Amino acid sequence: ERLRLNRLRHTPALTMDRQRIELLANIEMPDDTLGAVEAGAVGVGLFRSEFLFMGRAGKLPDENEQYLAYRKAIEGMQGMPVTIRTVDIGSDKPLDRPTAKAQDGHLNPALGLRAIRWSLADPPMFLTQLRAILRAAAHGQVNLLVPMLAHASEIRQTLDLINQARAQLDARGFVYGPVRLGAMIEVPAAALTVPVFLKYFDFLSIGTNDLTQYTLAIDRSDESVAHLYDPCHPAVLRLIADTIAECNAQKKGVSVCGEMAGDVSMTRLLLGLGLRSFSMHPSQILAVKQQILRADTGKLKLWAQEVLQSENPAALL
Ligand code: PEP
Ligand code: MG
Repeated sequence: ERLRLNRLRHTPALTMDRQRIELLANIEMPDDTLGAVEAGAVGVGLFRSEFLFMGRAGKLPDENEQYLAYRKAIEGMQGMPVTIRTVDIGSDKPLDRPTAKAQDGHLNPALGLRAIRWSLADPPMFLTQLRAILRAAAHGQVNLLVPMLAHASEIRQTLDLINQARAQLDARGFVYGPVRLGAMIEVPAAALTVPVFLKYFDFLSIGTNDLTQYTLAIDRSDESVAHLYDPCHPAVLRLIADTIAECNAQKKGVSVCGEMAGDVSMTRLLLGLGLRSFSMHPSQILAVKQQILRADTGKLKLWAQEVLQSENPAALL
């Protein structure tokens, strides 16, 4: 089966009704771009930059180290776009090993100082990362993606800091490049206020892992409730469907970068909901492409609306 899939590496991801689908890779380190290119990804849809920060006993990478890492990923993609997500530290991705100590005093880390909240709590640290990304953007097409936003005030603070980072680079005489700005939709509050996000951002990326966790109030890393963690819960699908529809209506880019994007049992539903951009672990790209080549989005559109109405969507997939 692997061998048969391998033949699809250079096949364009077109549905039977000739819709072009963008298949992107999720990466954790710059070297992962090798696997992404090998799998036929047309870009990186999610570079989880926190992996540069983790397991270093709290000593964070400085601007130059980050710049070189981002640049390496950009060069690795040979001209294809690279979406760099600002750090998503906290909760299931603590700076160091997830010992009780690392989470000291934080009873609900998933609801606490995580991702953009962690970045906005330490502007010098965040500005360092933003400068590194902007400098790397001089070497290729870069999308800058912000995790876990929920409030308009957080959006404005983030955009202010991006402008500050540019001003600092100007003042210091560094070269930097343009970036497209994107927000992750992974908190229900964000999914329910998509027009606010579209006012400020060029594109959105739906993080179905956290969107599921926060919609269902299920800790994604707690085994004892894993049986209730259901990305196909009608409430989760409704938030995903509405986010995609709103972006399509406003002709703004939208992708899914959570595990759902690489789950072949979900490909047809996401296509039917209007999704045209998927970002996943490189190992899933060919299998998802195979689903796409067999799909007819015209037919899937009506069917997807039926799935949304079901109390047990998973049974219809
Ligand atoms: C998500 O939440 O779906 C996502 C892509 O981000 P992460 O898994 O890194 O939290
Ligand atoms: Mg997430």
